[in-house]
Amino acid sequence: MIIREIRSKTILSASKIHNYVINPYIGCHHGCSYCYARFIKKFTGHEEPWGEFVDIKINAAELLHNEIRKKKPGTVWVSGLCDPYQPLEESYRITRNCLEVLIEHRWPVVIQTRSPLVLRDLDIIRKSERIEVGFSITTADDDVRKIFEAEAPSISDRLAALERLHDSGISTYAMIAPMLPGAEELGKLLPGKADRVLIDKMNYHYADHIYHNSRLDDKLTDEFFRSTGNKIVKDCKEAGLCCNLVF
Ligand code: SF4
Repeated sequence: MIIREIRSKTILSASKIHNYVINPYIGCHHGCSYCYARFIKKFTGHEEPWGEFVDIKINAAELLHNEIRKKKPGTVWVSGLCDPYQPLEESYRITRNCLEVLIEHRWPVVIQTRSPLVLRDLDIIRKSERIEVGFSITTADDDVRKIFEAEAPSISDRLAALERLHDSGISTYAMIAPMLPGAEELGKLLPGKADRVLIDKMNYHYADHIYHNSRLDDKLTDEFFRSTGNKIVKDCKEAGLCCNLVF
């Protein structure tokens, strides 16, 4: 793993998903096999494999402090091209410092992560009136998780963290995206932990070879995505949980 501390030029970027996005890191230690964010390598001069480099934007909070005063308030997505709570965040606290600025200025925030490390920041998350915390939970089967997202936290740890946030009164959501093999039972596991659920299929081809080598080709078909998605929606709705397919 190649780790570098860098000074970024900007931090608050326009986003099509929410109004703005903040990426405290370039690169992601989780290195998920299907991750679309690897395209950032082209724009940052990285030649290392995805998951084997992380640039730490050590001036992110300082930049945000200046930029936030010049921009129209809007919802900020944390993050789009990295996991804001990847392992380096434990010691660097770049995401935490940015959150403090956003919450101090009362901007709405949407956090998206795969890591229970977000619980460390419950003290400041609780201070925001407009914050939503989401977990990407792609399968219910941790053996599948190990095939596609070996460096990311276990599914049971993610579910437990989501439940803790929900029980703490924080608005929560689950992103089943991309829907991996073994996702079928998620509709039974998410009620009581998430306030809403979104489901998307696999939209990229980076992990096609893994499906093939693992003899999971039948889980990369429209039929799988449609039938599994419909089952999860049905199970969630029966439990009173809002759940939508986005494909
Ligand atoms: S955690 Fe998210 S950003 Fe990081 S590698 Fe996985 S999909 Fe990509």
